[in-house]
Amino acid sequence: MSDCLFCKIAAGEIPSTKVYEDEKVLAFRDINPQAPVHILVIPKQHIESAAAITPENASAVSDCFLAIAKIAAQEHLDNGFRVISNVGEDAGQTVKHLHFHILAGVKMGERIV
Ligand code: 5GP
Ligand code: ZN
Repeated sequence: MSDCLFCKIAAGEIPSTKVYEDEKVLAFRDINPQAPVHILVIPKQHIESAAAITPENASAVSDCFLAIAKIAAQEHLDNGFRVISNVGEDAGQTVKHLHFHILAGVKMGERIV
């Protein structure tokens, strides 16, 4: 996707503060952090959102969660963290490329699941 911000970040065309990378996944720090630790985990493959997961591309989700477990260990998120994926208008998805927010480093509210 030539006009997708996160595809450009995955391709290295737009700089990011990289936290983790493997063949399938990139993780980098959110430019506007909502917690002391705020990391975005994306598949390198362009998938619009969690609503666009199919049997053919579903491995991208497990690839991201394998990365999340590694990042949690690497970044010492021993006190816990929250994983969020916004989908569509009502959830406030602003970048139409599947991504998982990792939020950590603060005691979070008990609401919003
Ligand atoms: P969404 O609202 O779609 O769930 O999350 C998009 C996230 O991407 C937001 O938290 C926003 O701060 C972050 N973001 C937007 N543009 C950039 C950018 O150019 N670089 C980085 N590192 N994060 C970005
Ligand atoms: Zn994309």
